[in-house]
Amino acid sequence: MAAAQIPISSKHVAVIGAGAAGLITSRELRREGHSVVVFEREKQVGGLWVYTPKSESDLLSLDPTRSRVHSSIYDSLRTNVPRESMGVRDFPFLPRFDDESRDPRRYPNHREVLAYVQEFAREFKIEEMIRFETEVVRVEPVIEKWRVQSKNPGGDFDDEIFDAVVVCTGHYTEPNVPNIPGIKSWPGKQIHSHNYRVPDPFENEVVVVIGNFASGADISRDIAKVAKEVHIASRKKEPHTYEKIPVPQNNLWMHSEIDTTREDGSIVFKNGKEVFADSIVYCTGYKYNFPFLETNGYLRIDEKRVEHLYKHVFPPALAPGLSFVGVPAMGIVFVMFEIQSKWVAAVLSGRVTLPPPDKMMDDINEWYASLDVIGIPKRHTHTIGRIQSEYLNWVAKECGCELVERWRAQEVDGGYVRLVTHPETYRDEWDDDELIEEAYHDFSRKKLISFDPSYYLENIR
Ligand code: FAD
Repeated sequence: MAAAQIPISSKHVAVIGAGAAGLITSRELRREGHSVVVFEREKQVGGLWVYTPKSESDLLSLDPTRSRVHSSIYDSLRTNVPRESMGVRDFPFLPRFDDESRDPRRYPNHREVLAYVQEFAREFKIEEMIRFETEVVRVEPVIEKWRVQSKNPGGDFDDEIFDAVVVCTGHYTEPNVPNIPGIKSWPGKQIHSHNYRVPDPFENEVVVVIGNFASGADISRDIAKVAKEVHIASRKKEPHTYEKIPVPQNNLWMHSEIDTTREDGSIVFKNGKEVFADSIVYCTGYKYNFPFLETNGYLRIDEKRVEHLYKHVFPPALAPGLSFVGVPAMGIVFVMFEIQSKWVAAVLSGRVTLPPPDKMMDDINEWYASLDVIGIPKRHTHTIGRIQSEYLNWVAKECGCELVERWRAQEVDGGYVRLVTHPETYRDEWDDDELIEEAYHDFSRKKLISFDPSYYLENIR
């Protein structure tokens, strides 16, 4: 929708979460003139990027009474997106070659990402808007406004009224554990990747890793360093699949999915192979979960589809008072936070208008139908990596902000292909130097870097 002819108005907005999405969103809301309170249940900013060696008390995270941890980061994790594409567009994620405590690699470790996120919060003075150790326990609509109930550090409950609420609570904390035939009587250890930190507990074991996307590919190789054997089960592979994957330890195999597990400890794959395993590691993804939302059944989650969100952000009948930043899964996540939150900020101020609820619903139904036509299952409704630039550019046009740069879109698409075809080397070997060059020249043109691009280019390659 084009810019509306309504005077710009300032709203009182609650942002839930001070991970990257909440930090970026609160900056955009304040830039647009809104007053913002950020609720964060932890003691610091960074969300998922705050690594902890602790795991949950139930390693499968099924027990509702378990002790919980937020982060799903494992110790060896490096980014799966190159840093120049990953950063916020006017605050690039630059390597620091002058500071030994930092990781200047193109695909750096998780500590480097946390350092960047903390710098972002400092640079834009976001912390002054945040209430730490304050958990939102209930959010509900009340006549044109929103009631937010939170539990403060003293353990008391506060009730406040806001014009709008933006949910930025992430979606990599509530494990998805598929049911596997025979698993109830299978005697080995089971853990979800949410609780995986280091390979040591798997020393000399035979391990089956279920799932072969980003985390599965990383974790299986991490464990192969110390385990006797590691077997990956992938449902994306043909039933006959049985391949040896080249790793220095010569102990990693790829199979099709698991057919059954048995009481004697054996695991049978669809390819007919059988292994006696000590542990199963589930790299099977996460579920959306918004336990604090009370919308009288209006919003619900069905097979990983948040029903219903217009362009993955606004629930039609509750918009614009309720919105979500960060629901889609894609490559350039921080840029998505930036563009989605600019849209939310502009809609709340009245600078941009949304279509009427019935038109938003029509659009959502068309989106669902288009997924059906090409056979994409419901659980992938928000997995939009293949169309991320198209989606982001649609939202960017809607709120009048810069489109995704050509180099960024190409880097992420090419990086994805390398991740899938060369999971063991894609972070250290690449063939898109010309795109890195274009990125740093672009930063220079926009005066976002203080050194000449050659300083970065010579060091990063
Ligand atoms: P989070 O970082 O999860 O932050 C949510 C915040 O909300 C937390 O601080 C939490 O404490 C708070 N919160 C939750 N509920 C409440 C409540 N009720 N009240 C108050 N506070 C609450 N992205 C990339 O760009 N590059 C990568 O390389 C990359 N690697 C990844 C690797 C793994 C293993 C995973 C799981 C994800 C990866 N991602 C990566 C995606 C990652 O999710 C995003 O980068 C991003 O950090 C998510 O930010 P977020 O703010 O949406 O969520």
